[in-house]
Amino acid sequence: MMMPATTRHDADFGQAKPPKSLKGDKPLILIVEDEDAIVTLLDYNLRSAGYDTAIARDGEEAVDLALTLEPNAILLDWMLPLRSGLEVCRHLRRFPETNEVPIIMLTARGEEQDKLRGLDMGADDYLTKPFSPQELLARLRAVLRRAQPARLKEILVFADIQMDQGSHKVTRGEASIVLAPTEFRLLRHFMQYPGRVFSREQLLDSVWGREKDVEPRTVDVHIRRLRKALNAHSESDVIRTIREVGYALDLP
Ligand code: CA
Repeated sequence: MMMPATTRHDADFGQAKPPKSLKGDKPLILIVEDEDAIVTLLDYNLRSAGYDTAIARDGEEAVDLALTLEPNAILLDWMLPLRSGLEVCRHLRRFPETNEVPIIMLTARGEEQDKLRGLDMGADDYLTKPFSPQELLARLRAVLRRAQPARLKEILVFADIQMDQGSHKVTRGEASIVLAPTEFRLLRHFMQYPGRVFSREQLLDSVWGREKDVEPRTVDVHIRRLRKALNAHSESDVIRTIREVGYALDLP
């Protein structure tokens, strides 16, 4: 059976642009689901509730659309062609464009074990089919409320450091700073919460996306690299180490 065409913006890859979510005033929700009846139900209810929607029918398309459209939230079916919802979730948590987008997993499975696996892979919430549209909308509102408003800001500024989230460019004073993806996410997290102290475990959760196999001391390694990149021209060190506690972005 032919599936209806879905929106694709492959040509947009790699270009500096504001996230899609900043363009319209309606929040954009990406629906990832291969069952037509459920797609229709979700699409209708979301649009009626004032959201914009995009639809992906398999796991590959889900990743493509999530990275190009940068939706405000993703409804992600568990059982999908090409890539499972679990794999999609794990994958999206590794990219700065999508590592904080709220994800609600949808599944027919109701077992506690599966729920925990989904949450471990970085899902924010979980709905077991069949669910009522009212329940879905309530959960969606909750994850959107919890999403940090700072992530919608295009340019983050702290002291003489600027981060353009659209183009992924970082500068300190006049100098351009090149960061590896993990250091970029780490700095972005600090810049979203300037002055706040984070433990290694908190940084692992927020920056590494709950990949529990990463050891806390990995954080120290990446902090060292981030410091080196930021202080390449012997500027003052803006990353404060709080002994036995963690790290903060702070003015010396
Ligand atoms: Ca399915």
